[in-house]
Amino acid sequence: MAPVTLPLGISRLFQQGKLARMVRSFGGVSPQEIGLLLKSITSRRRPKLLPPINGDFYEISDLLSEDERHIQQRVRNYMEQRVRPVVANYWERGEFPHELLNSFATMTRETLGSRLDHLEGMGPVLTGIVAMEMARVDASFYTFFGVHWGLAMGSLDLFGSEAQQQHWLPLMLRFEQIGTWSLTEPEVGSATAAGLRTTAQREGDHWILNGAKKWCGNAPFADVNIVFARDLSDNQVKGFIVERNTPGYHVEKLEGKIALRIVQNANVRLEHVRIPEANRLPGVRGFRDVARQLGMARGAVAWAMTGVAMGAYERTLAYANERIQFGRPITAFQLVQSGLVQMLGNVTAMQTMCMRMAQLYARDGSISQERASLAKAFCGERMRETVAIGRNLLGGNGILLEYDVARYFADAEALYSYEGTHEMNTLIVGRSITGMSAFL
Ligand SMILES: Cc1cc2nc3c(=O)[nH]c(=O)nc-3n(C[C@H](O)[C@H](O)[C@H](O)COP(=O)(O)OP(=O)(O)OC[C@H]3O[C@@H](n4cnc5c(N)ncnc54)[C@H](O)[C@@H]3O)c2cc1C
Repeated sequence: MAPVTLPLGISRLFQQGKLARMVRSFGGVSPQEIGLLLKSITSRRRPKLLPPINGDFYEISDLLSEDERHIQQRVRNYMEQRVRPVVANYWERGEFPHELLNSFATMTRETLGSRLDHLEGMGPVLTGIVAMEMARVDASFYTFFGVHWGLAMGSLDLFGSEAQQQHWLPLMLRFEQIGTWSLTEPEVGSATAAGLRTTAQREGDHWILNGAKKWCGNAPFADVNIVFARDLSDNQVKGFIVERNTPGYHVEKLEGKIALRIVQNANVRLEHVRIPEANRLPGVRGFRDVARQLGMARGAVAWAMTGVAMGAYERTLAYANERIQFGRPITAFQLVQSGLVQMLGNVTAMQTMCMRMAQLYARDGSISQERASLAKAFCGERMRETVAIGRNLLGGNGILLEYDVARYFADAEALYSYEGTHEMNTLIVGRSITGMSAFL
């Protein structure tokens, strides 16, 4: 065994013969080993160079093309430099950072370019990576983008006529017109597939919409709403473009949220809203079409959940490196390391699952509902566990916005429930693997 230099206090114990007596009482343990043990316990020194904090342990970025990696880095830079510094303050006030809209529009145009023009342009892998990078810093910001680009623009892209696309998509790409998307209703949440209460009735060249919608993201300031309603003549779901200033269209901001406080959600009332036939989305022929869009969106949310877990892991490790208790950084304690490793294992499992899901989606040109639902359900559980471990490892500071992890912890709850609850996504997979529907 190599010679050991003992700390001064321990050498003194040695000289006084006390240590020899203690060692005898340990039986079989050498003085050198005791010295090492005591040294490690009493040492206040930390390694000069800490390992880098890396939430991509299995190097999934390595699976991207050089161009895609460059995009990932630019989105990350924007989120770190522009969003992170202001986000806690907006979260606390429950306001959306409108000051960032111009720079965000510029960043997305410069970074993603014409890929943004259509949902397919980005490809499932890049869409996922972008969602992960946004949510890694702030899940609200991802949600704002997800509703505007993925859901509202996505509906126009998937279901709109040529004329509708040409009118709306360029304006929305520049964020000059903001979109919202309304499927959920006050009385109909998980059960949207079983029938909407909001109705559409044709009158000549127009449609009359009546009903109520809940949770519509961005709606308090959105210019255009994609509204789904049940056609009274055939009971099928149809989609409509409803402009903000249409008579009978009322928006009321939802207050009192404990998650995603930056996202502005609203209740919408539709009272005899008259819409020209030209504003009906011709591609929506029934709920099956909406479900196809939901599948795509669920895959993206699984990636966003991965981002939330990744951000929480990285912030927790950074905090634990700095936090000193009992004279040592808390990262030196076994139980803290155990929590950090559990978090990293979760993040890595989520990343690898999402990446494979996206690769299959890219290969097949579409994603099956059950594959998207499995990722949403699995990542939801892992995200929830990860942010809870992180919150605990920050102790009391885990409930302060200043340290970020509290925000991830709270926001995770909304992601867990939206785009289909954990139970709905579980039942979709369950039906697929057993052939038995257990919804009712
Ligand atoms: C922050 C946020 C943003 C949102 N943004 C939008 C948006 O932009 N546009 C939009 O249209 N919607 C949006 N939603 C709505 C969201 O999609 C719904 O909240 C979600 O689908 C669940 O519906 P619900 O809240 O009515 O819950 P419910 O359907 O009432 O469910 C309550 C509980 O019962 C369980 N449950 C229900 N049925 C069954 C069953 N058959 N078997 C087992 N368990 C069951 C659910 O899993 C859940 O745990 C948003 C929601 C949130 C929280």
